[in-house]
Amino acid sequence: MLKRYLLAPGPTPVSPEVLLAMAKPVIHHRAPEFAELFGEVREGLKWLFQTKNDVLILASSGTGGMEGAVANFLSPGDRALVVNGGKFGERWGKICKTFGAHVTEIKVEWGHAVDPQAVADVLKKDPAIKAVYVQASETSTGVAHDTKALAEVVRTCEGTILVVDAITALGVFDIQTDAWGLDVVVTGSQKALMLPPGLAFVSVSEKAWQVAEKARNGAFYFDLKKERASQVKNQTAYTPAVSMIIGLQEVLRTLKAEGLDAVFARQERLAHAMREGVKAAGLSLFPKMSPSNALTAISAPDGVDGQAIYKNLRVQYGITAAGGQDHLKGQIFRIAHMGYVDTFDVIMSLAAVEMVLKSLGHSIKLGSGVAKAQELLLAKS
Ligand SMILES: *Cc1c(COP(=O)(O)O)cnc(C)c1O
Repeated sequence: MLKRYLLAPGPTPVSPEVLLAMAKPVIHHRAPEFAELFGEVREGLKWLFQTKNDVLILASSGTGGMEGAVANFLSPGDRALVVNGGKFGERWGKICKTFGAHVTEIKVEWGHAVDPQAVADVLKKDPAIKAVYVQASETSTGVAHDTKALAEVVRTCEGTILVVDAITALGVFDIQTDAWGLDVVVTGSQKALMLPPGLAFVSVSEKAWQVAEKARNGAFYFDLKKERASQVKNQTAYTPAVSMIIGLQEVLRTLKAEGLDAVFARQERLAHAMREGVKAAGLSLFPKMSPSNALTAISAPDGVDGQAIYKNLRVQYGITAAGGQDHLKGQIFRIAHMGYVDTFDVIMSLAAVEMVLKSLGHSIKLGSGVAKAQELLLAKS
């Protein structure tokens, strides 16, 4: 028997309480019980997104939310600026091109965060740009972009909106949708929201709705205006993922009971212990700056194949982490610590990494990373 541990940067573990909640009988989405449930989760999402605006709930993976965040705001021929610092930045570009937008890309070296001044320079040269697309946390490299600073740049440009993929950021670290002026914020269920895959969430500012008014809408299923018209009445345009929404109610109640600041502090504590543990084990972090608290991207030591580390974690110890993508394949491996995770997920994953490296012939002192994490995570009496 091999006990399984899910420490991938999505999907993430789901708590027994949430699994049980989702096992409840399905209710009909036009019945009054659903409207009551939907009303509660809509309010909870506004709290989580730190916004007064509606947060639309879609039945799709996170990419469906991203597609909606392109199709509803850009018409064919419109200009878009994409920050591409990894696989998910690249995805913004692909979606924009699919909907006929003219894309300018800021290529950011993998492992680095975008310089907000670079965005300011492009917008100054090309004020016709309708939307700027960025990740709050680029999961392929483990780097967080400074969306607060980017919003300061974009908010001065009339007619330009900032669209943030916060799929591994929201619920991990502070994302102040309204206070910072993030126009469209997207997240998904299977990352920090600790649900199974299947829901996407999109908040839209007043400025962004005005842009949407003028756009020639290229969406049918992901038509956000149509969804808003239904969702403000606690209904959805089409059949919602009812059981997932029941699970979401449970997640939001748990997060509320903990408090947003406490959630961010816990995620920070775990991420810090993981990073320090990695360094104490003699390994190096892949991000060259601003590491995301959602996951840790670790460089494979010289002479060790990163894919072998990732594969052995799964085969030898039942731990599903992630490897590197594209040119980082074999160079890095990634371990997530967002959502339903705690002290021992960090300690266990550091222990397993040390054991795998040792069995791959790398010289490592067993327990070196673990001891550092234990020290940092020791409960204060
Ligand atoms: C997981 C993820 C997505 C969405 O992926 P789906 O597989 O469509 O849910 C998008 N952006 C980032 C940064 C992610 O981590």
